[in-house]
Amino acid sequence: MSRLDIVQIPVLQDNYVYLAHDKETGETAIIDPAVAEPVLDEAFKRGWTISHILNTHHHPDHVGGNLAIKEATGCTIIGPRPDRDRIPGIDVAVDESETVRVGNAEAQILFVPGHTRGHIAYWFAASDALFCGDTLFSMGCGRLFEGTPAQMWSSMQKIMRLPDETRIYCAHEYTEANGRFALTVEPENPDLQARMADVTRLRRDNRPTVPSTLGAEKRTNPFLRAESESLRNGLDMPRMTPVEIFAETRKRKDHF
Ligand code: ZN
Ligand code: FE
Repeated sequence: MSRLDIVQIPVLQDNYVYLAHDKETGETAIIDPAVAEPVLDEAFKRGWTISHILNTHHHPDHVGGNLAIKEATGCTIIGPRPDRDRIPGIDVAVDESETVRVGNAEAQILFVPGHTRGHIAYWFAASDALFCGDTLFSMGCGRLFEGTPAQMWSSMQKIMRLPDETRIYCAHEYTEANGRFALTVEPENPDLQARMADVTRLRRDNRPTVPSTLGAEKRTNPFLRAESESLRNGLDMPRMTPVEIFAETRKRKDHF
């Protein structure tokens, strides 16, 4: 199984589009192309041939470049089966536990509904890379537009079962605002305090805070910490279940 070269392209206000390139075969996937032009330019500059688009969900800031890129490259578009009517130009619809190949690299599909009802993530285990769209963010998670807290919490738990060294390639640079919220619900978490200091420095220099690792997220992201003593205490909800804790945290973030 080969290890992908991954390139991060900041576009629009705060989106990240990724190129994932397999050196052995030259095949290259674009993950969630919000737009076409800067992504095609970057691939061209590197001499990489676009073979695939991998979409995590149907929102315009994730599929906006689909048709123009397909037109320019003839690539294959892969997306979630429940959303096949909402993904422009889709060729292959995939479900939980199916696999997708980019050259000699292989991704397993994780069905992670909550932000939208069909949201999926692409886990390239041999590359320690998870492309999770708007499900898990650095120190945050996506808003629940089409799913319930219970669904999103179970999506979080599915992601938490991956190895701690997995790099979390989310689709937005929301880390600093997420961290400011996280500190309101877990002010005494020393890992969170330390990470916020790093994040503040990076953003001051206009540098990306993404990807982080799953291990770092487990220590600092309140949406992965619904079972932690310190978050329960921070919310002052000692007797609530993890789903209730998760729901309350999401609700407070919506109004933050
Ligand atoms: Zn979205
Ligand atoms: Fe988005």
